[in-house]
Formats: sequence, C-alpha cells, structure tokens
Amino acid sequence: MRNFEKSSKLDHVCYDIRGPVMDEANRMIDQGVDILKLNIGNPAPFGFRAPEELLKRMNENLSHTEGYSDSKGLLSARRAIVKYCKKKGIEQVTVDDVYTGNGVSELITLAMQGLLNSGDEILVPSPDYPLWTASVTLSGGTAVHYMCDEKAEWYPDINDIKSKITSRTKGIVIINPNNPTGALYPREVLEEIVEVCRKHGLIIFADEIYDRLVFDGLEHRSIASLAPDLLTITFNGLSKSHLIAGYRCGWMSLCGDKSFAKGYVEGINLLSSMRLCSNVPAQSVIEAALEMEEETERLMIPGGRIYEQREYTYQALNEIPGVSVIKPKAAFYMFPKIQTSKFNIYDDEKFVLDFLKDKKILLTHGGGFHWEKPDHFRVVYLPELDQLKIACDKLADFMSYYIQK
Ligand code: PLP
Repeated sequence: MRNFEKSSKLDHVCYDIRGPVMDEANRMIDQGVDILKLNIGNPAPFGFRAPEELLKRMNENLSHTEGYSDSKGLLSARRAIVKYCKKKGIEQVTVDDVYTGNGVSELITLAMQGLLNSGDEILVPSPDYPLWTASVTLSGGTAVHYMCDEKAEWYPDINDIKSKITSRTKGIVIINPNNPTGALYPREVLEEIVEVCRKHGLIIFADEIYDRLVFDGLEHRSIASLAPDLLTITFNGLSKSHLIAGYRCGWMSLCGDKSFAKGYVEGINLLSSMRLCSNVPAQSVIEAALEMEEETERLMIPGGRIYEQREYTYQALNEIPGVSVIKPKAAFYMFPKIQTSKFNIYDDEKFVLDFLKDKKILLTHGGGFHWEKPDHFRVVYLPELDQLKIACDKLADFMSYYIQK
C-alpha cells in the first residue's frame, strides 16, 4: 500500500483553536462526558436563532438559486454590499470590487494565496484570529506578529508595528472589532495605522466581521473609510451578526488605489473563478440581511442576551483572585489574564487541558491565538447566563487550588 503523508506546506501551520485540547474534549464527549464548550464563536449551539425573516427569504430563494452564480457573487448581493460600504464611508467600491465567499474564512485564504511569494511578510496581530497566521503561512509567506497592548485597551502598539516593517512587508491585518480581545479601535488609532501604511505602501487587510456587534452605543469605524488612497481589502459576513455561521456567507471588498496591484487583482479573480462561486442561497439573503439592523442591535443593549452575558462574565472573571480581564467593547469574546506566578503556570495549553479534565469545560489557551506568554486564555460568552454562571463558578473553584505541576 502507498503511504500518504500530509503536505509539508502544513508543517508550520498552527491551528490550535481546533487542536489537541479540543480533540481531548471530543474524546471525553465520546465517552459520555458532558462538556461545556466555551471555545468556538458559533452562536447556533447556544440557542441563538437566525432572524425568521432571513430563513423565510432563503427558503423562498432556494428554488431559483440552484445554479452557480457569477464567481464574484450575485449582482443583487454585491449591490447591497456596495451600499453597505458606502454607508460606512467606504466610497469608491463598485460591484466589480466585491467578492462573496463561503464565509470570510475562504476569502482570507484566497486573499493571501493570491498575493504571497516565499519570504513575503504580512503583519498580523498578536493575539490574532489564527486563520490569518495559518493562511499567510500556507501561502508561503511569513506572518510577523505585532503586539496589541492589554494596558491600552488591547489597541495595536504602533511603535511595535513600525519596528517590524521590512522591505518584504506587503501588508497588515487589522481585526476590528477584535477576536479574541473584544477590542474596538478608535479613530485615532486607525489613523495612526493608516499613516504607517501610507508611508510604507502597505496593503490593509481589515477583518470587520464583528462590526455590527458593538456595545455601549459605540460606533465602529471602517479603516478603509480613513484610507481612500490606499489599497484596503475589507472582510465582512453574516456568520456572527445574523447568527448564520453554518450557511457560510461572507464577502470582501477592494477599495483605494489598485493601480500598482493589477497582477494581484487578476490573481484574486482567477482564484475566485477556480472555486466557481460561493453558496448561492446564502448570497441571496445578503440584501435583506444588510437592511436588518435592529435584530443585531437588540442583542447588544441592556436587557439583550449578549450584553447581559458580557456584563456577568466580565464581573465574575474579575472577581477570581489571580485573573483579570479588560472589558470588551464588541463581539462575544474575552481574553483574560492569569497571574502565572500564583499558579506556577508555565504552559497555557496544559492549564486549559487540566481545567477541561477537572471541570469539563473547554476554553482556548492564549497560545492558540499566537500569544507567546502562557498567561492568557479566551472565553466565548455565548452560553446562557445559567451556563456562564456554572462555568465561572467552576473556574473560581479551580483557581482556588490549581498549581501547575
Ligand atoms: N474573522 C474573525 C475575526 C473571526 O472571528 C471569524 C470566525 O470566528 C472569521 C473571520 C470567520 O468567519 P466566517 O464564518 O465568515 O468564515
């Protein structure tokens, strides 16, 4: 028999959010153990339902979305995305600049594959949403991590960004609102980033999938709206804001100066055509979804589910001796800090594994987000309050006796 190995291209790809700790959790589940999963930002398993109106529309559309669409997506969907971009101050986008995808995930990979040659560098935040680092690596590039500063509300550290730019740097990834920290970047921070990109001719990759999931009456600002002269690719989708992660519906829009990136745009067109098109029934609800603002807003205000879950989790985590967390302003994640000396923690993956085995709760260690020190973990606060209460109580109990061996 032939022996098939995995591609060596994957040797350096790290995707620990679905790695060994989750494998262990799945083994425990197979053995009949009940595990509370606070590791994946997937709203449906926690009882979040898609807006009725969207389901109705998709049902109605099924009978006339059987065929492939244009490789960039249905014109009606792309028109709606252009309208949405304009509403957010991204003025120059046309329907030709919009590509729909099977989730933002597919487009992240496509955007990196179309651009990178061996040795090219992309600045990626630390902590990151790890698909970005994995996609850069898989595309033959090098992900160079810049720090986000916990002491400054988890904003990107501009000096660190500057210090990491080389002649091989092609672009920078900005995840705003941020997974895993829940940070929302103010205009001044975005303007500083734009200034650096302008000086060094960098492409901006703006992952804004959480832009409608913002708390406290704050407003999300798209970095592309501040950089009309720079090539910016903005990513967005319906997985989170419309609670339909399983339908795989995302898009990216190119804006700004494309004159120096003709070859890159051709590459994107080619890759987009090679996968034929994205899921057409899902595309067919984009227009309706982008007109629906209230459904999402309702979750984010006092009395709303995600708001109340944030309030509780933030307070409960901060009450645990040795644990502290910055209050998130958006999305549904927190990235708490552990006082490692108090618990002798030298390995964060071992910490979440020990917690899983002991308390049957699955978290993700900070290293899964390319955070180097073993002093953070991520909590997804999507479960109902009673579940979150159980989880926080169990964590408080665990931290009252845990010493890493
Ligand atoms: N970008 C960020 C920052 C995310 O957190 C996620 C999913 O968790 C994605 C992209 C992928 O989303 P999609 O479901 O559109 O592929």
